[in-house]
Order: sequence, then structure tokens, then C-alpha cells
Amino acid sequence: MSNFGEDNLPTLLTHTAQQAIHYLNQLDTLPVAATATLADLRAGIQKPLNEEGIPAQQVIDDLIHDTKDGFNNSTGGRFFGWVIGGNLPASLAADWLTSTWDQNAALYAVSPSSGVVEETVGTWMKELLHLPSNASFAMVSGCQLAHVTALATARHELLSRHNYDIEHEGLYNAPVIRILCNKFKHGSVDRAVRFLGLGSKHFQTLETDPITAVVEPSSLQKAFDEDPNTPTIVVLQAGDISTGSFDKFAELIPIAHKYNAWVHIDGAFGLWARASSKYRHLTDGIELADSWATDGHKWMNVSFDCGFVFTAHPNSHQATVSHRAVYLTHMDTARDQIDWNLDWSRRSRGFASYAAIRSMGRKGFEDLINQCCECCGLLVDGIGKFPHAEILFPPIINQGLVRFLSPKANATKEDHDVFTEEVISEISLTGEAFFSPSLWNNMKVMRISVVNYRTTVVEVERVLKTIEAVLLKLVNKYRPN
Ligand SMILES: *Cc1c(COP(=O)(O)O)cnc(C)c1O
Repeated sequence: MSNFGEDNLPTLLTHTAQQAIHYLNQLDTLPVAATATLADLRAGIQKPLNEEGIPAQQVIDDLIHDTKDGFNNSTGGRFFGWVIGGNLPASLAADWLTSTWDQNAALYAVSPSSGVVEETVGTWMKELLHLPSNASFAMVSGCQLAHVTALATARHELLSRHNYDIEHEGLYNAPVIRILCNKFKHGSVDRAVRFLGLGSKHFQTLETDPITAVVEPSSLQKAFDEDPNTPTIVVLQAGDISTGSFDKFAELIPIAHKYNAWVHIDGAFGLWARASSKYRHLTDGIELADSWATDGHKWMNVSFDCGFVFTAHPNSHQATVSHRAVYLTHMDTARDQIDWNLDWSRRSRGFASYAAIRSMGRKGFEDLINQCCECCGLLVDGIGKFPHAEILFPPIINQGLVRFLSPKANATKEDHDVFTEEVISEISLTGEAFFSPSLWNNMKVMRISVVNYRTTVVEVERVLKTIEAVLLKLVNKYRPN
């Protein structure tokens, strides 16, 4: 009989740990952007399915070899694309243990320690983010599933106020739920609404400033004046994806509550401003909301597969999500994750967050948030000083927007768009930094998102030198001979 590789397990794990350490040690010198083409990657990775097993260590070495050029090395400190986040040492180590222990965190009975760890993480997170201590929570795979869980709970709560049993009846004869939203809401909110059968046609966009992406409070009042009775969910933003700006929660939420609406907050990264006494004021009033979604794997710098949802309506949350089956074992006094999470079998997501929180403390997260905001400010200011660069949105927190102005004579907006794209891809090609483009206020822009503890002033200076050199090179290229 095969021993499935068990004999070599200690050697395999030691070898793999050495490879992991080797990778991390190279972060300063590896190109930040992936260098392999799609064809390269397929040629290496798409091997024919093997009949006989291959020794695990060779499989691991092949995996490292075949994938290494296809990584954007986003866990390093010079990656500023999208909103990705780093991975704190304690989180990484605890994430290794999570796979080692291989616990199914569905029920207390299946993995008692997993349940208590998650329960503790929930309590700490509410303290860190200054959310109501009686809020329910779940650790989910990311903000997308946090939205689904929160909006499913909102659906239950709003419809039960209309004596409609959504779980039993389904949506067939349900009252329509209107969703008033920030115009720049993240696409994950659209998807959550789709999954839940609420229907995207029931989105009603509130007047939102095209520059700051902040909702105009009078437009919320106007929506309720026009229709005070339709059950309503209001979706607001803590940290717009482009500008990092915050809706005016202290003004908006009381208006919504006057009309019994449910207020949901997309705080994927921005909710973390609450971990810093310097930036917390930007979120004033947010604690009044009905549900909050945020990520662990972005600004918290926990390994991927980590999001959090909190609701101010624990009974509705549990009624929406919970399930009982004859073969499941429950203990009244313990927390069963299946009561709060949409997953059944699931990874013990709590360990990485638990370790990250203890290793950082309140002070560590405050420093992380402040450092990212400071570095984002330095990058945007530094870029703004270069010829042909223009600051479009100086960061409020850790997100900034710039663009690059074409050196062509009589350059048009389209020329600036093309030049901005060109600068972004030239920066990537240097291997020194990575930024991603976006469209903002009808312009092609370069987004600068700083969400990693590894980004310090050292990285900022190195990246500014690179951008300066790229600009010089490109501008010379445009010069007539
Ligand atoms: C990333 C992001 C999301 C989606 O979160 P996932 O963790 O990727 O599911 C939602 N809203 C905003 C503002 C985001 O930045």
C-alpha cells in the first residue's frame, strides 16, 4: 500500500518552510510585476494528468518553479495596485498552522478551539473598530460575502417587519425592497443584490459628488420624501475605492432610521480608519449603522480569505443564516459559526486574525494605518512635483489619484489618457513598483493604494526615483529629433 508521502513529511515541511523564507528574503529584489506570459505559465503549469504519484517534494519544487514568474509580488512593499494588503508575520505563521491543524470550523463541537478563537476575534474586532459591543459578527471569505450576509439579514429584517416570512415564502410575493446607494458603490454590492434576488433595477442612486464620491445628504431626504413607505436599504461607503472618502454617516444614518431603513456600510478597507485616533473622526456616526462589512485581507494585513461582517440585529442575522440538522451537535453556551456564516464546512479563519491582533495590539494597527496614509501622501506629493505629473486627488487616507500629461504639442485629454497608461506600464516593466489604472471623473488615472505594512519611506523614495526616471525616458521619446 502507498504511504501517501507520510514518511517524508518532516523533511517536506522543513524544505517548504525554507523555500517560503527564501521567497520572502527576495522580495526586495524580485520584479514586483509578474514577468511570465500566459503562454509561459500554461506551458509550465498545464502538465498532463499523471497516472502515478510524484514525490511531494518534487511536486512542491515544480509548483514553485512553474509559478514564480507569474506572481505580482504584492506581499512586498512596492505594490500599489488595486487594494491588496500585506500579510503580517504573525498572520502568516498562524495561517501555516491553520492548514497544519486542518480544523473544520463549522461548529463548536467539531473544533472547540476554532470556535472560541473566532468568538474572541469578533470581540476584539468590535473593540478595535469601535463598533457596538452587542453587534453580531461572522468571519467570512471577504467583503463580497460580508455584503451577502449583511444584505440577507437586512432582507429578513425588513420583510419580517412587513409580516413576510422570506425564508418560507421565497421572494415570489414579497414586497419590493428599494436600495438607495452611493453612485460609486463597489461592484460587490451589485453582486450581493443579484445573488439575493433583490433585483438590480431596485437600486436607486443617490446624488453623489463626482469628485469626492460622497453622497449629498439632502438627496437621501428627498428619496424618502418621495417615497417614505417602501422597505429600504441604504448602502454607504467608508473608503471609496478611488478616493478613499467617507459618506457623512452622522447626517445620513439618522435620516434613514427615521424611515426605518436599514443602513449597510461598505468599509472593505476604510472601516480601518477607526483603528487610528488620527483618522477615526472621518467615520463619525458610522456606529449607528445596521451592518458593516470589512476585510481582514486588505488593510488589516491578514492572509487572504478573511473578511468580517457585523450586524446590529443579531436575532435577524441568526434567523437568516442558522441551520439545524439531525447529525449536528450544538452546545447552547458555545458559539457555532454555522449560526452566523453562510459556509458549512470551512477553514478556521480565526487563527490568522487572532495572531495578527495579538502581535499588533491597538497601537500596532494605529501605526499601520497612520504609516500607510503617510506613505500615500508622500508618494502623491512626490509624484506631483515631477514635470508632466498632475495630482488629481490628494489622499484623505491611503488612496490617491494622479495622472500624467502627454508631452505632445497641443495634447488632448485622450493624449493624457494614453500617456498615463504608458507611464503605468513602463513603471511595471522596471520591476520596481506596480500601480493599476482606473477611470475617474472621465479621466484615465493612476491609483495609488498603500495598504501594506512593508511600505515605508524607504520604499517611497525608491519608487519615486523609479517614476522620475520613467517620466524622463518617456518624455525624451516624445521629443522631436
Ligand atoms: C475590495 C473591496 C470590496 C470587495 O472585497 P473582497 O474582499 O474582494 O470580497 C468591496 N468594497 C470595496 C470598497 C473594496 O475595496
